[in-house]
Amino acid sequence: MSLFENKDDLKVLVETLNFKEKVERSLALIKEAFELYGDGLVVANSLGKDSVMVWDLAKKVNKQIRGFIVTTRFKPKETIAFMQEAVARYPELKVYKSDIVIPDKLYETDPDRCCDLLKVGPTRQAINEMKVKCWVTGLRCTEGRTRTDFKEVEERDKGLLKLNPILIWKEREVWQYLALYGVKVNPLYAQGYRSLGCAPCTKITSDENERAGRWIGTSKCGGECGIHTRPLINGEGI
Ligand code: SF4
Repeated sequence: MSLFENKDDLKVLVETLNFKEKVERSLALIKEAFELYGDGLVVANSLGKDSVMVWDLAKKVNKQIRGFIVTTRFKPKETIAFMQEAVARYPELKVYKSDIVIPDKLYETDPDRCCDLLKVGPTRQAINEMKVKCWVTGLRCTEGRTRTDFKEVEERDKGLLKLNPILIWKEREVWQYLALYGVKVNPLYAQGYRSLGCAPCTKITSDENERAGRWIGTSKCGGECGIHTRPLINGEGI
């Protein structure tokens, strides 16, 4: 049966599939999507641990699979260096960035608007320019309060499929995969970060919630930049 049409209970799968079964399921989802969409299948690579794992899985399915990175003027220097290494190794990874003029410290006064301009806009641009039919993300349903209601295969925007092939993975299992397969990660993790974003909006915390260090002190705390919640086709502005 097609995994694309599965009605499996994801919460059960999170707890019952073992590591090998999760690897096989993730690979099967990407393989099925690649057979359906070919070059229209593109991986969104945020350069976090989940993204580099999905990128590694995608390369196991087919070396030709393309990807895009959305970066901003506020990314930490370690992430920029890590991005430059990734792009040098994989020229099929395209980088998108907005140079739009924004008010000073917009990330403090209106972080939603800041993310909309610097992250959602370039994501829309990538999807449009790369003629993406199915984008692949590193979302996981155990990652935080805002990530519990996603599906492995979704169509939030009509005509644009979204594949979340590691949705049922736990944080520990992602690290297990990265260690077992020798996948290099952003050096910021060694400093204690668990979820990576722009420098002004990302802190090290000891909170149990994996995304608790994101947007601390704002209404967005532990939340989302918007690429998983805002329309990506026919959205407003760039
Ligand atoms: S994470 Fe912070 S700095 Fe980066 S785009 Fe969002 S609000 Fe702006």
